[in-house]
Amino acid sequence: RIITSYNQTEDNINVVVRVRPLGDKETRNGESNVIQFPGNGQVLVDGKPGGPSGDRKPKLFSYNVAFEPAATQEDVLQYSGMTRLIEMAVEGFRCTCFCYGQTGSGKTHTLTGPPGLFGLKKTPYSDKHGLVFRSFLYMFKLIQDKPDVHFVLKASFLEIYNEKVIDLLNPGSARKPLAVRWSKKARGFFVENLFTVDCEELDDLIAVLEEGVRNRSVGKHNMNDYSSRSHTILSVHITSETPAENGVFLSRSGKINFVDLAGSEMTKKTQSEGKTLEEANNINKSLMVLGYCISSLSDSKRKGSHIPYRDSKLTKLLADSLAGNGATLMIACISPAKSNVSETVNTLRYAARAK
Ligand code: ADP
Ligand code: MG
Repeated sequence: RIITSYNQTEDNINVVVRVRPLGDKETRNGESNVIQFPGNGQVLVDGKPGGPSGDRKPKLFSYNVAFEPAATQEDVLQYSGMTRLIEMAVEGFRCTCFCYGQTGSGKTHTLTGPPGLFGLKKTPYSDKHGLVFRSFLYMFKLIQDKPDVHFVLKASFLEIYNEKVIDLLNPGSARKPLAVRWSKKARGFFVENLFTVDCEELDDLIAVLEEGVRNRSVGKHNMNDYSSRSHTILSVHITSETPAENGVFLSRSGKINFVDLAGSEMTKKTQSEGKTLEEANNINKSLMVLGYCISSLSDSKRKGSHIPYRDSKLTKLLADSLAGNGATLMIACISPAKSNVSETVNTLRYAARAK
């Protein structure tokens, strides 16, 4: 039994949870598992955090899908609703997939795979490759199945660190962050001077992924610390022209964003000082605004009410896909370890609000 269950719907927002396995070190340290899977997309937390004020009641949460630690990378592609997002993006909708969770919960593993996977020309496609790579393969399969349609793909990869946008395909931009502007014509926000790569082949898309992942980790003292404070967005724009009658072409413009969010523990770490406080506030803010935007969207009664996209760079850049008629997939990543239980419950609550 790999995936407990489904409660899959055709909603515009799908929320799934992935529980990573306990690491070797955790196992050696006698760490215990606090997560159970009762079925129907449910996750039961039976942790007993220490201290007299610890909340000792088991908590039950429900999502579209719950992935157990034994779920493979391919399971996540096949059963999360991701394939539907890719199909929609190819058909001209704007879609977003993001991973949310505390540092060390498996966000980057889920999206990218373990570090050092790339250099793909050398390494064959393995069971470790993440959701982005698998989505690219699926996207190209869909495109090849429509030989009469002319597709143009363009990809970009950026990082938002402390409300500054850095182009991961042009690392020089770290010294001069890029501006986020509103385009009247496109009726959306865009990043000025962001490098976009024309991707004719699957290899071109993979090269974008590879290059961005490499640049994310270059020149940073403490990679983990840095990646826990920044958000990355890899976007693929898919425009297509389908021949219609009388030599007329039907043109469509879709997009898929893959978002690796800052560690969710940052939403609380505001006690720190100086620059770190500023950073924590900014990270805190964009994750909070994102949560608010998503729960406003998923709450049908509030549709049409004001949604504060403009309050952070992250939500500005995701606004077109969150607000439009595209679809969003949230993958909440959690640790099974007892020592992480309070962050795990925070993540599960945030994810449950989005659903
Ligand atoms: P995050 O990006 O959320 O900080 P990572 O993706 O870096 O977390 O994961 C932390 C560690 O756990 C890494 O060593 C990663 O390889 C491992 N890990 C995460 N998820 C899984 C999984 N599903 N299967 C095996 N190892 C995993
Ligand atoms: Mg990470």
